Amino acid sequence: MRVSTGNTSGVDSRMFTVVIESLGVGRPRRATRQLTVPFQQLQSLLQSVALRGGRLKIISVDGQPLADPATADPATAAPAAAAEASSAPAEAAASAGSAAEPVAAEPLAADPSPANKTAVAHADVPVNLYKPKDPFIGTVVDNYSLLVDGAIGRVNHITFDLSGGNLHYIEGQSIGIIPDGTDANDKPHKLRLYSIASTRHGDNIADGTVSLCVRQLEYEKEGQTIYGVCSTFLCDIKPGAKVKITGPVGKEMLLPPDEDANIIMFATGTGIAPMRAYLRRMFEPAERTKNPEYQFAGKAWLFMGAPKTANLLYEEDLQRYLTDFPENFRYTKAISREQQNAKGGRMYIQDRVLEHAEEIFTLIENPKTHVYMCGLRGMEPGIDEAMTAAAAAKGLNWAELRPQLKKAERWHVETY
Ligand code: FAD
Repeated sequence: MRVSTGNTSGVDSRMFTVVIESLGVGRPRRATRQLTVPFQQLQSLLQSVALRGGRLKIISVDGQPLADPATADPATAAPAAAAEASSAPAEAAASAGSAAEPVAAEPLAADPSPANKTAVAHADVPVNLYKPKDPFIGTVVDNYSLLVDGAIGRVNHITFDLSGGNLHYIEGQSIGIIPDGTDANDKPHKLRLYSIASTRHGDNIADGTVSLCVRQLEYEKEGQTIYGVCSTFLCDIKPGAKVKITGPVGKEMLLPPDEDANIIMFATGTGIAPMRAYLRRMFEPAERTKNPEYQFAGKAWLFMGAPKTANLLYEEDLQRYLTDFPENFRYTKAISREQQNAKGGRMYIQDRVLEHAEEIFTLIENPKTHVYMCGLRGMEPGIDEAMTAAAAAKGLNWAELRPQLKKAERWHVETY
């Protein structure tokens, strides 16, 4: 064990001997090991252990056993032990250069075994059942506006009948749509991807349909209003019309099969599409009846960004889930043109993340928590900035934490 090197230069050079009890992710595998690490590496070690659901005890500082070792549980490991570390007495017995044991501040690897219920079994996920050269021809069964008076733009919910083929999917995947007609070069249009907004059972819970949530792209160019090709095609389409569909694709946004998982969702605009599928699977009574193996009992927390209240999507369903599952569902809105952030500016989703930083990170320290982000690409830097500040407030380093979460398949992003 390393003996004290003291703190003679303003740099904290104390060595901490810790015992880590690793529980693994999602399975009862226990392993303990003892390590001695310098103060500078203690923080990232604590983060790694907390992320993996492990426990950590500081048993000595600079070789001096602690009378009451600091026991950190996963929810509080990093800040508690960091506080313990910074308040532990610094001995000044200099013995610079003495050999430390190999330091293990490296992240604990994600557990890829099939027994890990929090990771998704990717092998079972259907992909590319229909390719652009030979797409499935679906039939529109429904197409209606999701917006109310006063909303900005156009957002529609569109459902296709998939009968007569083998196109099936699971929550979190996308499908491709090839709009009718040709492009400026007289070539057939290329496909556009859309996140699936229905569960695998479809909105009618009878299987054999798929639903999308589509915003008509509209922008100004050289004094002209331009409308997107495929989004306009879809928003205008009538029941009975035939549509070329490809896919499904995507394994990034899959829900963990664990009914006790915690699911934090950041959505802006049509980024609600996969979240709607998750929430239906979790809370829609007919879905719960249909899926006896998935009776969601964790915490689902949706952060939703929209410009106006009239632009909130699927609001009635979300309010119903709040009423029916108050212990399991939480819904936090950021309405940019109607609400103000703490600085008096427009309220964006990242402002809500900052407001709830403490709770978000307490949840993230639980290895059963997954975070999902979906919407326009522009939302990413804001969320990243907010997560950086939120992490720092808990003594955590987001730049180190995010890749670890990603590796553990707990950080899921699909922006476009
Ligand atoms: P196009 O006619 O293809 O026009 C798009 C082009 O217009 C852009 O490439 C750009 O060159 C130009 N352009 C766009 N905005 C501007 C601007 N402000 N100024 C100047 N030029 C501009 N969309 C949804 O509505 N709902 C979804 O659930 C959804 N899910 C998606 C999931 C994934 C994985 C991906 C990759 C995308 C998703 N999209 C979704 C976006 C969708 O695929 C299309 O990109 C979108 O509908 C626009 O296609 P379009 O054919 O209407 O536009």
